[in-house]
This record gives sequence, C-alpha cells and structure tokens, in this order.
Amino acid sequence: MLGNLINLLYPAICRGCSKKIDKFDRNICDNCAKKITERLPPFCIKCGRQLKEGYKSIATCQNCEKDKPFFDRAWSVCHYDNLLKNLIHDFKYKKITSLSTDFTTLIINFMKKHHIGKDSNLILSIPMHPNRLFQREINHADILAKALGKNLGIPYSRNTLKKIKNTSLQSKLKRDARIKNLRYSFYLKNKLIVRNKNIMLVDDLFTTGSTVNECSRLLKNSGAGYVEVITLARGDVL
Ligand SMILES: [Zn+2]
Ligand SMILES: [Zn+2]
Repeated sequence: MLGNLINLLYPAICRGCSKKIDKFDRNICDNCAKKITERLPPFCIKCGRQLKEGYKSIATCQNCEKDKPFFDRAWSVCHYDNLLKNLIHDFKYKKITSLSTDFTTLIINFMKKHHIGKDSNLILSIPMHPNRLFQREINHADILAKALGKNLGIPYSRNTLKKIKNTSLQSKLKRDARIKNLRYSFYLKNKLIVRNKNIMLVDDLFTTGSTVNECSRLLKNSGAGYVEVITLARGDVL
C-alpha cells in the first residue's frame, strides 16, 4: 500500500532504459533484468571459474590444481559485462546503494538454485582500509553482505575483518605481485567469532581471487569451518 503510494508520487526510473518501473524498490525493469546474464555451470568446484562445456561438475580448474585456494568454494552469480558493469559502477562510485536490493535478488535466486549457504552461520564482507573508506564514503561489499544477511536470516558481522594495510590498487598488478601486496594486509578483530563457524564471505567482484583468498587464509588459520565465497560478478567469459 505504502509502496504503491510512493511509486505513484515518485515513480522509479530504470537505470538501464530510463523507462518508469512499477515496483518502487527496484532500479531496473524486468526487461533490462534479462540483459544481466547469469553464469551457468560447469564451474570449477573450488574457485567457481567457468569451465568449458563437457567438463564434469566435479572438476577443478588448472589454477586450483596448481595452487589450492584457502577457501572451500567460491561462486560468482553473473557475468561482468554490459548493463551489470554499469550498475556495479553506479553502486560503487555514484553511491546508488538502493541497487543492493536488485543485486541481492540476483544473488539469492542463484544461491537457491545451487543450494549455496545452507550451512552458513556467519556472513562477512571484504573490508576496506579506513583511508579508502573515507574517500569512497561507502563500502559496497558491506552493503551487499548486510542485505544478504537480512534476507537469509544469517548474522552478519561488519567489523570482524579489518583491512590494516592500504594496498595499492590490485587491478594494476600481476598475479604474484597481487599476492605479495595483500599478504598480512587484513586483520581479524575477534578470532572467537569465527571459530568453528561456516562463513560466507561476500564481495562484488571476483577478479583473480587473491583478496578473498588472503581473507580465507586468515579465517582458516583462526579456526573457521567451511569458508564459502559469494560474489555478484566475474569476468571469465570463455
Ligand atoms: Zn529497463
Ligand atoms: Zn578453480
């Protein structure tokens, strides 16, 4: 009722095609939502990388066979392209935080489909160094993780993982340099919180996985149980 009234007074405009939307809590219309492409299996059973068709659903990719990640399994929901790329940019840099509703819907549908997170009992997000947070004003991963926790009914802890080293931008570095750059850059404020907990670690993008892997290393060394990573998008189109 209240939603209908809000919608009548302030109709939502689709961020994809600029047409009016009849749902007040949405940023994209149903038509544009179809342009966001969900990733389809087969996936690497460790890092979630897209594998070529014909691969078994129990296969690991070459990277994971060579360098076993610290997390138990990572999943990425959508392909990082077209409309979603723009929406993530709006979310992070234009601070359109209401997009978290649209993103959460995508993530939750994917999780249901693949039976993800059934045993999770703690949600954590990838933290930002205080200096960067000061510049950006929001941590997009926090916002996503909080919305997911609320929807799934799983506790979310914002300040458990901390970033203590203000690392240079990862995207400009090669793989080995990324890993070196990230080593000891995170800190776990409360080890007791994570002990024997099955953790869902949330971020927007999965690039090389070095950030989530470094956080997972810390969590596992502090006694965490199953560590599952869920990211909204990944750009690994075959
Ligand atoms: Zn649209
Ligand atoms: Zn893999």
